[in-house]
Amino acid sequence: MKILITGGAGFIGSALARYIINETKDQILIIDSLTYAGNLESLASIAQSDCYRFEHLDICNRAKLDHIFAEFQPEAVMHLAAESHVDRSIDGPDAFIETNILGTYTLLETARKYWQTLGEQAKKTFRFHHISTDEVYGDLHGTDDLFTETTPYAPSSPYSASKASSDHLVRAWLRTYGLPTIVTNCSNNYGPYHFPEKLIPLTILNALEGKALPIYGNGAQVRDWLYVEDHARALYKVVCDGEVGETYNIGGHNERKNIEVVQTICRILDVMVPNKPRNLVMYEELITFVTDRPGHDMRYAIDASKIERELGWSPQETFESGIRKTVEWYLANEEWWRRVKDNSYKSERLALTR
Ligand code: NAD
Repeated sequence: MKILITGGAGFIGSALARYIINETKDQILIIDSLTYAGNLESLASIAQSDCYRFEHLDICNRAKLDHIFAEFQPEAVMHLAAESHVDRSIDGPDAFIETNILGTYTLLETARKYWQTLGEQAKKTFRFHHISTDEVYGDLHGTDDLFTETTPYAPSSPYSASKASSDHLVRAWLRTYGLPTIVTNCSNNYGPYHFPEKLIPLTILNALEGKALPIYGNGAQVRDWLYVEDHARALYKVVCDGEVGETYNIGGHNERKNIEVVQTICRILDVMVPNKPRNLVMYEELITFVTDRPGHDMRYAIDASKIERELGWSPQETFESGIRKTVEWYLANEEWWRRVKDNSYKSERLALTR
């Protein structure tokens, strides 16, 4: 298969690209505008493959997208390009509206025009797979409720509202134009190559440096955590075997309070890195509660039984195994995260894209 992946230099997109190159014979073309979240160094291990190609491109650039589609002739599009950090969406929503809504619209229109030129058989097998989040469902307040594929949308932040908009556009392009689309909504991901502004890498790296471990409010917010490589396997399964027009929720059955996540990392580090900074006895001493995020969702929890039942996917990692692997990865890959933290990953970008 020839798969066009948007946002492939990001956290999940790069995990998906590594999975496809390492585990399949498919060809991929990544398009990514390399915002602060895009990092070509996350793709270095596959960049020499004959099945890999990269184009430095914004998904809002219609003319260049048209050209790339015509030249590459994708059989599937996996759309991950997005602005993805909730805090940034509160500080400055413009880029979220631009990329997540207008960018998705531009990509849909490009895909639709291209798809209309295909022969009957290729039209039937073409897939536009939109990768979205469980945050479109808003939050849960009971302890037993789960988000299912039919839970009504009730997004809370500019990020989740922009993703909800893009989900609606994707479904409308199927209903109105017949473009064969599939949507997946996934819970919080964690794992290797995660940008250090997100909770899990931030906690690991701040702890190693003896810095405060900030927790919003009282830390009682619950998230369902999925190891990123499990997500990549699920996405590939969906693009290959998913039914057109369907939505699949993807989750890890790993609900944890934010405070529990941070405490777990601290305890793993107590064992793996006993030589602590600042004469600490335990890394937990660094935990600091900070003013809660406005509109902060209380609990997310995914019912992933549909993808398990219909496509035979289930996560391979428990939270305990995945978080251990993640901490080990950050300890073994200091060069990757140091270059993100001091911004030197940006200076290599143009050289690497040539
Ligand atoms: P990320 O922020 O790590 O990566 C996003 C990528 O998109 C980056 O490489 C960035 O350069 C690229 N990009 C941004 N704007 C672009 C534009 N206009 N044109 C081309 N490329 C652009 O995000 P992620 O965590 O890898 O998430 C990927 C997708 O999965 C997003 O759509 C997100 O909503 C969704 N998702 C993420 C999570 C999670 O926990 N991270 C959970 C569920 C769903």
